[in-house]
Amino acid sequence: MPLPRAILFDMDDTLIEFAGSAGPCWKAVCGRFAPECDGVTSERLLAALDAYRTWYWSDPERHRIGRLNMAAARREVIAGAFRDLGLDRPALIDPMADAFAEARAEALRLFPEAIDVLRDLRSLSLRLALITNGESGEQRAKIERFGLVPHFDCILVEGEFGVGKPDARVYRHVLDQLGIEPADAWMVGDNLEWDVWGAQQAGVRGIWRDVAGTGLPPTSPVQPDRIIRSLTELIPGKSARCTDPREEEVGPDDGHSI
Ligand SMILES: [Mg+2]
Repeated sequence: MPLPRAILFDMDDTLIEFAGSAGPCWKAVCGRFAPECDGVTSERLLAALDAYRTWYWSDPERHRIGRLNMAAARREVIAGAFRDLGLDRPALIDPMADAFAEARAEALRLFPEAIDVLRDLRSLSLRLALITNGESGEQRAKIERFGLVPHFDCILVEGEFGVGKPDARVYRHVLDQLGIEPADAWMVGDNLEWDVWGAQQAGVRGIWRDVAGTGLPPTSPVQPDRIIRSLTELIPGKSARCTDPREEEVGPDDGHSI
């Protein structure tokens, strides 16, 4: 596939990675706060949090509301776990939520190749956009922290625009801003529904970043136009591996937990 005129990028788990999943961060928080939890062990506290957050993030509408106010979502998850444990320690909710947020922020990293790839694409005269779901505050903080602004012609944050991926209005708006037709653009992201299916619905080719290397889930209703492991595969001549979806290994879906 020859390069298009524009590439739209997802941010979380596409340009930015969490060095480790949310689990170890919650585990550390439980270890620190369990002594104040009326005899509830760190293990029981962690199990209750894991169960509650899995339930919380499993519903698309709850997910949408939660990601637009992460501070409130974290507090709701902790409060729910406390309820399930019969634990009456409301004063711990804020400090636990803040400790978790801090641990998660510390674990954030740019993928090592991200900036070089963005620079290479710009040097090839491509127009670039960043499209990220989530609230303005947390997403803008990441954009600033990692110096992403100068690399993009257009940045869209769900919390600022009013709707998020996979809504076709998101893609149409960004393409309008770039002055690019859908057929002249690719969307690159790790989320099969938001980044691949959503883009395809708008007439944009959907490139799935298989960041975990597990391959397309066998039951996936979404068929990416291309699969990449590393962003460097986007640069002509730098692709080191096969990118034909039919030749990818098949493995389990990777969950994106918060
Ligand atoms: Mg993502």
